[in-house]
Amino acid sequence: MEKFTFKAGVHLPACKKLTIGEEIKETSIPQQVVIPLSQHIGCPAQSIVSKGEKVKVGQKIGEAQGNVSVPVHSSISGEVVDICPQLHPVSGKKALSVIIKSDGRDEWIEKGKRHEDYFRLSSKEICNIIKEAGIAGLGGAAFPTHIKLSPPKEVDTVILNGVECEPYLSGDEQLMIKHPLEIIEGLKIIMQTVKASWGIVGIEDNKPRAIDLMKKEIAKQPNISLKILKEKYPQGGEKQLIKALLNREVPSGGLPMDVGVLVDNVGTSFAIREAVIRGFPLVSRVVTVTGWGVFSPKNLRVRIGSSISFLIEECGGFSFVPGKVIMGGPMMGITQYNLEVPVVKGTSGILVFGQQEAEKENIRDCIRCSKCIDACPMGLLPCMIALYAQNQDWEKAKEYNLLDCMECGACTYVCPAKRPIVQYVKWAKDKLKC
Ligand code: SF4
Ligand code: SF4
Repeated sequence: MEKFTFKAGVHLPACKKLTIGEEIKETSIPQQVVIPLSQHIGCPAQSIVSKGEKVKVGQKIGEAQGNVSVPVHSSISGEVVDICPQLHPVSGKKALSVIIKSDGRDEWIEKGKRHEDYFRLSSKEICNIIKEAGIAGLGGAAFPTHIKLSPPKEVDTVILNGVECEPYLSGDEQLMIKHPLEIIEGLKIIMQTVKASWGIVGIEDNKPRAIDLMKKEIAKQPNISLKILKEKYPQGGEKQLIKALLNREVPSGGLPMDVGVLVDNVGTSFAIREAVIRGFPLVSRVVTVTGWGVFSPKNLRVRIGSSISFLIEECGGFSFVPGKVIMGGPMMGITQYNLEVPVVKGTSGILVFGQQEAEKENIRDCIRCSKCIDACPMGLLPCMIALYAQNQDWEKAKEYNLLDCMECGACTYVCPAKRPIVQYVKWAKDKLKC
């Protein structure tokens, strides 16, 4: 079978063997969850419960504010013990959150209406179900899915992203192994909603079992195909996937819909299926808890709002004193300084490094070797962007297409001078927002 890829990028050690055969297991019910009202791009939801109120699993506890927003739901049954600002794992700042103490009963609210006959629903009706289920992209970006599924431009192809190119993570792979039928049903719902004629599932060649099982499901569909991609980072970037699979180029500052494409992650597709066909809101997600610092690495189905420390306990605790804990993968994840922060809708992994792996290397001056330029999947000049950002010349950094940077970290990874290029990029983007 032909294998596809994009230009540039880097070959990383996959480091997936710690969890590669680990089937998804449900965690026990956490004693307490902290559910931030903002887990998506856009307006935070507004709390609709009060302190002391009893809630059930799946009950809406935060209402969406406006269109670019999604509601949030309780992931356990119990009592609301507080509604107050709590540390958010993505922003690193405090965000209003609902704290729920479990009653240990795990009682669900009555599920939403089932729509096995979803093909009778209009795009608007499907988007409304998806919004009400609180679905935001599970691939990490956490963009409200109902907005993505209402593109103002014509979309002919939906790409389902089963690449999972970040080292260490294997949750998407396990999801494809466990739920190939459900993921393809989710893709069909997406295709119907945006009226796309074609669906493509893209999977990297390092996931043979997922490829086999998905292939069997895809073979039953006349307008969906499976395409295998070469293992390379960041193969799962939207623009890189579109270029590799369709040879279409998303313009600078543009979106996939500008070239008639919509890209969604396999986890999001599964959540869409659960919402539309089974009436389930988004109250849990698959998280890979891994790294040499975890005693027994696992792929877990985790209730949203569970703390990192709870997940580490579910995996037998730390195997040694950790040097660094990251939420997400090693390339684009966010270092965490407090293990009580909660899993949110965009959390794909918890990665624990030892002291040695976490050691910072000395940063030196740029030696103009151009390795970062060769690695950049966006065709940028990372060394120049970093240099101008370091000198706080934000406008000049922008002239070098700073805003096209997807913060993949490939440049930082290859840099022999260990220059923190992505940190400079983030700093400059922050300053330009001010
Ligand atoms: S400049 Fe941005 S897009 Fe290019 S390699 Fe670096 S982080 Fe990735
Ligand atoms: S890889 Fe590092 S040292 Fe080489 S040009 Fe880029 S920033 Fe400079």
